Amino acid sequence: MSKIKKTKKKKKTKIKIDYTKCGENGKVDPRDCGFCMRACDPAVFVMHETIGTEKKQIDPHDPQDWRITPIWESLCSRCFKCVEVCPENAITITF
Ligand code: SF4
Ligand code: SF4
Repeated sequence: MSKIKKTKKKKKTKIKIDYTKCGENGKVDPRDCGFCMRACDPAVFVMHETIGTEKKQIDPHDPQDWRITPIWESLCSRCFKCVEVCPENAITITF
C-alpha cells in the first residue's frame, strides 16, 4: 500500500482596503499616494475610478471617485510591504 502524504492547502489571502481612509470617503486621493502599488512586486493592486457612483458628472480631481482594489490576491506573497508603507493604515491582510 503506497503512502500518500497529505499536503495542507494554502489558505486564501484576503486583502481589504478601508475606503473610509483612502479614496471614496477618505481624505487620501490614491492617485497622490499609490505607495501600496509601488511597494507590491507581484502587482496585486489596480487603481480605478469608483464604479457605481451616483454622481452624474465625474470630477477626475475628486478623490472620492478613485480607489485602489486588490484584484489579484492570489499573487500576494504576504510580504506586508503594502501594509507597512500605507500612511493611513488602510490595508488589512488576512489568511
Ligand atoms: S503583502 Fe506584499 S505581495 Fe501582498 S499585496 Fe501587499 S505588497 Fe503585494
Ligand atoms: S498606500 Fe494606503 S493610502 Fe496610499 S494609496 Fe495605498 S491604500 Fe491608499
